[in-house]
Amino acid sequence: MLTAKTHQPSFLASALLAWYPRHHRDLPWRHTRDPYAIWLSEVILQQTRVAQGLPYYETFLAAYPTVQALAAAPEAEVLRYWQGLGYYSRARNMHRTAQQVVTEYAGKFPGTYAELLKLRGIGPYTAAAIASFAFDEAVAVLDGNVYRVLARIFGLHSDIVAPSSRKEFQAVADQHIPASTPADFNQAIMEFGAIQCTPAKPDCLFCPLQHQCWAFQHGQVALLPVKSKAKASRTRYFHYFVLRHGEQTYLRERREKDIWQGLYDFALTETTVSELPPAELARQLDALGATLDTSQAAEPSAAYRHVLSHQKLEARFHDLPLAQPLPATTLRDLGLRAYSPAEIEALPKPKLIANYIEQKL
Ligand code: SF4
Repeated sequence: MLTAKTHQPSFLASALLAWYPRHHRDLPWRHTRDPYAIWLSEVILQQTRVAQGLPYYETFLAAYPTVQALAAAPEAEVLRYWQGLGYYSRARNMHRTAQQVVTEYAGKFPGTYAELLKLRGIGPYTAAAIASFAFDEAVAVLDGNVYRVLARIFGLHSDIVAPSSRKEFQAVADQHIPASTPADFNQAIMEFGAIQCTPAKPDCLFCPLQHQCWAFQHGQVALLPVKSKAKASRTRYFHYFVLRHGEQTYLRERREKDIWQGLYDFALTETTVSELPPAELARQLDALGATLDTSQAAEPSAAYRHVLSHQKLEARFHDLPLAQPLPATTLRDLGLRAYSPAEIEALPKPKLIANYIEQKL
């Protein structure tokens, strides 16, 4: 039997649902109930800010308006549209999940949280977002914004990075999500975290929850949420061999289990120090059977720095014009192929490589 309490939105739901219509940003994915479009927006927003993600969302949706269109696309093309967003494994997973939706669910997204969770690559956050926004299921989303809001308002001190904290936060959020308007509540709490209860300098002075907020009342806003430090990132030194002959440049698809799987870059050697000694460069070129056109030889580039989630990359590019094409055995062993500038443009590339090409080739 339903109790009177279930019909009454909690203080949190009431405050957020009153706050949301007056303050939220108008974003395209808030006007759709299409689970595919909602899924796409959530995957993009997990890794990037709204302003950066918005053009990707629009371009991607224009290229692949349905889950069927995405499933049928070649992976390299999908990665090319994703280029610049980073976290390429998410694009590859999304592509595979689209294929799963088409083959196992006849192209129709399952309509419940529990069923959505069975899809490859869809975790609790994304499943909750799709289930509530597309299908009105009362399951609370937990993203970084929601963790912060809940930690501050309820004085929750568990480390939000620890997987064991999820249960505790989920239980609190589920207690407050109203059965009648779960989508609005989820949108509201995420938006509230994004623009009012921000990580630094939250707007406590004009906050409708000031009186109920544990952190504000106890002077601990800056201390919550508790978040343990991420692992220190390691630095990797990449030396790229930009081998080119005439108009053609040699690239290869990255197939190894490492960053940027499925993207294209140049022949690469990695070292533990920043510089590649000239003698080592000469030895490696010799091993490749590369005959340099010394009349065009240039110095290696200055270091290009690129930061990933757990790694810092320092890359130098060695522009290496060849007097003759590379031997077939080298192409086979390294998986290299010669590409024209137009072909290179169409290949999916890490941002680091795309930046270099834009400036130099
Ligand atoms: S009072 Fe400050 S810390 Fe508390 S919910 Fe409002 S904005 Fe967040």
